[in-house]
Amino acid sequence: MAAEPALAGRLVAGVDRQRCLGCGQCLPSCPNGLLAVRGGLAVLTDAARCDGRGRCLGHCSADALNLGPCSWPTGGA
Ligand code: SF4
Repeated sequence: MAAEPALAGRLVAGVDRQRCLGCGQCLPSCPNGLLAVRGGLAVLTDAARCDGRGRCLGHCSADALNLGPCSWPTGGA
């Protein structure tokens, strides 16, 4: 899944699918309301709106959130 050209390489929130428990604990941590649980995993619902400041990091007891170059398709996964 390739990111939109405008997002390619920009730092945005990412979810480690191997670590995520789908608990939803992280959802309130995004001030832009961009985290959701779908299919048992946290997802970034709109990568274009992620400010890349990482305010969600540290709100996951499973250490599943990270910042990295955008790899989400348009509108998240
Ligand atoms: S990223 Fe962490 S806090 Fe968010 S749903 Fe997954 S396990 Fe829970």
